[in-house]
Amino acid sequence: MNRATFKKWGPFILLLAFFSFWLVWKKPAHQEVHSTTHLAMGTLVTVSTWGVATSVEEKAVVQIFARIDQVEELASRQKTGTPVYQINHVTPGTPVVVPEELATILAAGLEMHTASHGAFDPGLGFLSDLWGFGHGLPDVGKIPAATELTAWLHERKKNTDYGIKLVQEPSGAMTVQVDGYPFTLDLGAIAKGYALDKAMETMKQSGVQNGLIIGGGDMIITGSKGGQPWRIGIQHPRDHDKIMASSEIKGDLAMATSGDYERFFMVDGEREHHILDPQTAKPSRSGLISVSIQTQKAMTADMLSTAVFVMGMEKGRKFIEKMAGVEGMLVTENGERWKSPGFQGQWLEGP
Ligand code: FAD
Ligand code: MG
Repeated sequence: MNRATFKKWGPFILLLAFFSFWLVWKKPAHQEVHSTTHLAMGTLVTVSTWGVATSVEEKAVVQIFARIDQVEELASRQKTGTPVYQINHVTPGTPVVVPEELATILAAGLEMHTASHGAFDPGLGFLSDLWGFGHGLPDVGKIPAATELTAWLHERKKNTDYGIKLVQEPSGAMTVQVDGYPFTLDLGAIAKGYALDKAMETMKQSGVQNGLIIGGGDMIITGSKGGQPWRIGIQHPRDHDKIMASSEIKGDLAMATSGDYERFFMVDGEREHHILDPQTAKPSRSGLISVSIQTQKAMTADMLSTAVFVMGMEKGRKFIEKMAGVEGMLVTENGERWKSPGFQGQWLEGP
């Protein structure tokens, strides 16, 4: 290059060289979805991100799963040593001081218990164990002896006072008191949603603005995929390989689905599943087989999908319609289906 040419093009060449170096050094953000799956809370949790550099994504994923583990260490009744395990194993009636975060989760559960007139019940741990749903695999369930169910119902009706209490002590500390049989704390329909809310907060704090976190039937979403919505499928309740409905979602939204196909076993053609009706002490036979709820908080969606499932189509619909910012998609055993006008999703297949 002669002197004149260098004078003309030199600054551009230097700028280009610098820019190329900067691109390599900075590592470009990925224009694609990256997903990582871990086992947590007895289910698979998948964290997906869009458009972040590998270094940012890797760090975020570690922090997100650590946050989920923190919630599990508080709210699991399966793991020994958690506050919930401790509450369920002290002498009945003994107040146990709990961390503020657990008090927040339980307060929400007790509030939903009241609002749903008992359809939602965070005290069904003993009953869940009777049916074999307390731990793991779907086919380990068993039908309890009729006498066990009658005894449980009898005790439950005798106790006009709800046997789980959250109390603020004069010192300011929060304590939980469980009266013992028939009450056992089970946050299985709340804490997964709460964990996803906290996981999403961590995702955003880690610099990821576009992402999706799925845990079992619950999920929480933020942003988009470069302006394109996240595509979510809702499983067909009677055909594993089919999607019943699909949603295209951009921005901040949580969705939870409760179905009688998540954990179940079959006896004489009857489906025995893990969503229990405290009125009958048996798996809910409200007619509903799949309930999806969309709202801002995953914890609210998680609780509501279970509560509405137990309430049934008519009461459940009214319950959803009463609440601002809550949308639902409901399907019954006999093929009736309903979705609220604001629900983000389209039917693809009938039940
Ligand atoms: P949802 O409808 O959201 O909830 C159903 C669950 O809520 C039931 O399984 C029962 O626990 C409870 N429930 C039933 N009826 C009612 C009712 N009427 N009102 C309120 N609650 C009700 N499972 C394992 O097998 N091993 C584990 O180690 C394990 N650890 C867990 C730790 C945590 C912190 C949590 C939250 C759950 C854990 N689970 C574990 C449970 C497991 O992942 C459940 O399958 C899951 O919580 C049920 O969620 P879902 O969305 O399928 O159903
Ligand atoms: Mg749920």
